[in-house]
Amino acid sequence: MSAIHLQNLVKKFGDFTALKTMDLTIADGEFMALLGPSGCGKSTTMNMIAGMEDSTDGRILFGDRDMAGVPMGRRGVGFVFQNYAIFTHMSVWQNLAYGLRMRGTPKPELERRVGAIAELLQLTPLLDRKADRLSVNILQRVAIGRSAIMEPAIFLLDEPLSNVDAAFRAVMRTELKHLQRQFRQTMVYVTHDQLEAMTMADRIAVMDHGVLQQVGTPLEVYNDPANVFVARFIGAPGMNLLKGRSAESDRGLVVDLGQLGATSPLPDALAAGLRRHSGEVIYGFRPEQVAISDGGPGLRMPATFIERIGARTIVHFGEGETAVKAVFDNDVVLAVGDVVALAPNQNSVRIFDAASGAAIRAG
Ligand code: ATP
Repeated sequence: MSAIHLQNLVKKFGDFTALKTMDLTIADGEFMALLGPSGCGKSTTMNMIAGMEDSTDGRILFGDRDMAGVPMGRRGVGFVFQNYAIFTHMSVWQNLAYGLRMRGTPKPELERRVGAIAELLQLTPLLDRKADRLSVNILQRVAIGRSAIMEPAIFLLDEPLSNVDAAFRAVMRTELKHLQRQFRQTMVYVTHDQLEAMTMADRIAVMDHGVLQQVGTPLEVYNDPANVFVARFIGAPGMNLLKGRSAESDRGLVVDLGQLGATSPLPDALAAGLRRHSGEVIYGFRPEQVAISDGGPGLRMPATFIERIGARTIVHFGEGETAVKAVFDNDVVLAVGDVVALAPNQNSVRIFDAASGAAIRAG
């Protein structure tokens, strides 16, 4: 079994706690992304799974095997880092074959497996090329191939695409997903890029300041963020978050947003959840879930900036604490200074506790 269990995992560097009591189970064959901003503890977690770093407290199990004291070489993990680690004096073929040769793999099998991994990673035409003459993009592809060819039950990748260019990154996202589907490894993928996590992972573990914030499928973390950090971090642009307080109106429970006025009545289930809370809240809605309300109710705001990004147009409204963004089709007719009424899709509205930032769930 190659499920990974992190139990009460803690890592301290002197007085500094890089990881606070992490509990996470990564299922056998699952693609899990560890996602969060720089310094949140992703690599530290990964290094402990790999056996490069000892934990301060807690346990790591692969299946039911406790990894305490098991060195990296005996853990059966493949590891690819941000900076490719390959032998530049060797050819691509020699690099790919290296690990299997060390293991004494018979020639016919060696040839077959090098051929297969080269084909999968589109390296076949480059097999005879010396590594020192290859681009960073190709070198990282060779590094991934060199690790993948060993068919490790657990494959750890720490920001493997952060040094390659954007077009190549898009290609590699698809290839890595294919690779994992083919070999069915348990894959842990560290990234600060939510697009990578959203497109490849079965589930995402979102981290901040050494604390696991939420674990869920890409759609779960997008649709139902556990707190304002996840709401803001997931999505491009992130969720709009406006301060307010709940208020009863003759049409039902609304959120009073101060100078922006009151929202439309909340859906019944969300209103029921919110009635159990008192005090200040944060009203959240996705930029993709906003319509311009012609003459109807809505948050009246001026357009302050318009970004046309091809298929879609991102419009910024308002300023400071009341700034929000909305994503429209590219044929939206709007100019800076236009004041419109914005109507968030009621079913996509999310409410958070202003003090703790935690989501207030539908009741
Ligand atoms: P990045 O993508 O920037 O590497 P990360 O989420 O992977 O970010 P980590 O590398 O895990 O973050 O680091 C988490 C925190 O622990 C950071 O504040 C970092 O400075 C600190 N840290 C990491 N390694 C050490 C070390 N050996 N000694 C002291 N502090 C460390």
